[in-house]
Amino acid sequence: MYRALLFSLLLPVIFLTGCSNTGTVFKDRFFAFGTLIEVSIYGVDPALATRASAQIEQDFLTMHSNWHAWQPGALSTTNEQLTTMQPFTPDPSVLPLLQEAGRLSQLSNGLFNPAIGNLIALWGFHDNALPAGTLPDTAAITTLVEQAPDANDVTLTGTQLVNHNPAVSYDLGAFAKGYAIDRAIERLREFGIQNAIINAGGDLRAIGQHGDRPWRIGIRHPRQNTILASLEIDGDTSVFTSGDYERFFEVDGKRYHHIIDPRSGYPADKTTSVTVIHDNAATADAATTALFVAGPDDWVEIARNMHIGLVMLISADDIIYMSPAMQSRIRIEQDTAVEIRLSEPLS
Ligand code: ADP
Ligand code: MG
Repeated sequence: MYRALLFSLLLPVIFLTGCSNTGTVFKDRFFAFGTLIEVSIYGVDPALATRASAQIEQDFLTMHSNWHAWQPGALSTTNEQLTTMQPFTPDPSVLPLLQEAGRLSQLSNGLFNPAIGNLIALWGFHDNALPAGTLPDTAAITTLVEQAPDANDVTLTGTQLVNHNPAVSYDLGAFAKGYAIDRAIERLREFGIQNAIINAGGDLRAIGQHGDRPWRIGIRHPRQNTILASLEIDGDTSVFTSGDYERFFEVDGKRYHHIIDPRSGYPADKTTSVTVIHDNAATADAATTALFVAGPDDWVEIARNMHIGLVMLISADDIIYMSPAMQSRIRIEQDTAVEIRLSEPLS
């Protein structure tokens, strides 16, 4: 059932068009991180592309199981060890990821918060199936919000972690996919591949060239099954989107989705979608989540802190907020009038 849901959600998220004159186009697809990963490689011998892609698939499956928020693996073992409040050395695959997530969390003023795993679990999103229309206990939410788990509550000495807040549990759902895409791009480069796209269910990083024409990417309308905007990419670029339509359930006509405001413990409700363009996929991934939570009033401040220059945010009242740099990159594809509000330049 979850797979069927994923397929139906995937299709409208993004489209890629363009043509390649730089040689062979090689494509491979597999499932990881709960989504369809599509690897496209250009301009190399098919045998090399096949080898590289097989390696990438293996890497993705390893990263997926290492960094999964609730299935057994290195991260879930780390979460268990954190609850002992004693120093321990985590699996080496986890450390650099946690450090980078902690750094980005700090830059986002804690709006991207990788330490709120208990809150995400309480909402029932630690399951392949969606929660069946039940809201968590309000007192349990309040308690977790008051305990204020934060990446800073875990200190690192050498290779040892110590947890100082029993409420900390890592969930890297907002970040690990981007981080994995960056690792996969590094791997492609080790194989001598310079032109490629890794697309994970609409979140992607491209490197190099893809023919005479740049690639056009479509960004889905958060409430209609249509393309809201399109943009062209070239060179080394990551494009990530977080939306409240990806995973949600409804109770009494109100939508409860998977992006939680760590300050309230409830889904962030002023935003429906955020798109970020950045060179690095891990940063873009963390930033879409942080800016989603920041909402129409605070996204500019958080984008500046996180050194993000290209942002489009759709608010719950259907206003499109953008940085001027994003406006010059993006084309709105809607026929009906939309209100666009430009920010001051971000950098
Ligand atoms: P998507 O899963 O659609 O790519 P995100 O990148 O925004 O969207 O990630 C959402 C996931 O991140 C949630 O499913 C949850 O696991 C986790 N999450 C939710 N809220 C936050 C938050 N404020 N900070 C960090 N992680 C979060
Ligand atoms: Mg994200």
